[in-house]
Amino acid sequence: MSAINIKTLSRENVLKFLKSFDTVLTDCDGVLWLHMTPLPNSSNVMNLFRKFGKQVFYVTNNSTKTRDDLVEKCRALKFQANKDDILCTANLSACYLQSLSCKKTYVIGSEAIARELEQVGISSFGIGPDVINPNTPYSTFEKDPEVTAVIVGLDEHFSYPKMVKAATYLNDTNVHFIGTNTDERFPDFSKDVVIPGTGSLVRCIESCAERKAVIMGKPDNYMATMLMERSNIDPQRTLMIGDRCNTDILFGTRCGFITLLVLTGVTALSDVEKWKQSEQQEERDLVPNYYIDALGDLLPYLKE
Ligand code: PLP
Ligand code: CA
Repeated sequence: MSAINIKTLSRENVLKFLKSFDTVLTDCDGVLWLHMTPLPNSSNVMNLFRKFGKQVFYVTNNSTKTRDDLVEKCRALKFQANKDDILCTANLSACYLQSLSCKKTYVIGSEAIARELEQVGISSFGIGPDVINPNTPYSTFEKDPEVTAVIVGLDEHFSYPKMVKAATYLNDTNVHFIGTNTDERFPDFSKDVVIPGTGSLVRCIESCAERKAVIMGKPDNYMATMLMERSNIDPQRTLMIGDRCNTDILFGTRCGFITLLVLTGVTALSDVEKWKQSEQQEERDLVPNYYIDALGDLLPYLKE
C-alpha cells in the first residue's frame, strides 16, 4: 500500500483517479459529518459523484440509527440518499437474523435495533435500564425459551444484570451471537474524556460468554456480502472512503477496493506513516492507497 497524498498529484492524475471507480462507499461520521455538523463541501462532493453516474453507498457502523433515521439525517445535511443506499449495523443485524429464521432476540443496544428487527418480524426485549434488585439473586434468572439470538450494540444502560442475561442465553451454543461493530472508542471530543464504543461492550460479553460474536460492521465481511448481494459492484472499480483505518480502510483492503483516508476523523497521518514501515502485514493492511485532508478538498477537481 502506498498512501499517496491526493494533493501531490497533478490535476490530470487526480482526474484519472476520479475516473478509476464507478462505485463509492463512504463511512459517515468523520467523513461526511461530525455528529450533527456536516464537514465543509462533503455533501457537494458526494452529490457530484452521484451526478457523474457513480453508485453511492453510505456504510456506517453506528448501531443507534435505522436506515430511515440515516436517510433523514443525510437529507437534513444535504446529502442525496435513498434507503437502499444505506448500510447500517442495526439493519444488517435484522437481515442476518431474518436469514436464520430467528423470531425473538435479547438486545443489549438501542431502540434503532428493536425497530429494524420489528420491520422484519423479529421481536426483541432488553432495551433500557436493567436495575439490580437486591432481593432477586442472579441465580433465579429464568431464560425465555423463545430467544434464539443475542445482539450487542451501543447501550448507554450497559450493566452487570445485562451481562448475566446475555451470557446465560449464549451458554446455549444454538443461540446466535451478534455484535454490531468493534469500534473501541468514540473520537476524542475532549482530550480528557474517553467515551467507550460498542467494541468495548462486545468484548465484554464475548469474555463472559466465552464465545466470539459475529460482527455486522466494518471491517468484517458481512457488510460486503450484503452489498454484493444487493448491487452489482466491481471491487477493482470501487472506492472506500473512511476516517478510521482499523474499520474503514481494513474493510476496503480486505474487499479489494481502492481506499481513501480522510484526516477529519479518527486516524492521524502519523499512524499511517508508522504502519507503512511495519514488518507486520496486519499493520500494513491498515495503510490506505490514498489520503486527503478532507473529503471536501476533492470539490475543485469535480467542478469543471
Ligand atoms: N457507533 C456509534 C454509536 C456512533 O455514534 C458512531 C458515530 O457516530 C459510530 C459507531 C461510527 O460510525 P461511522 O462508521 O459512520 O464512523
Ligand atoms: Ca467514521
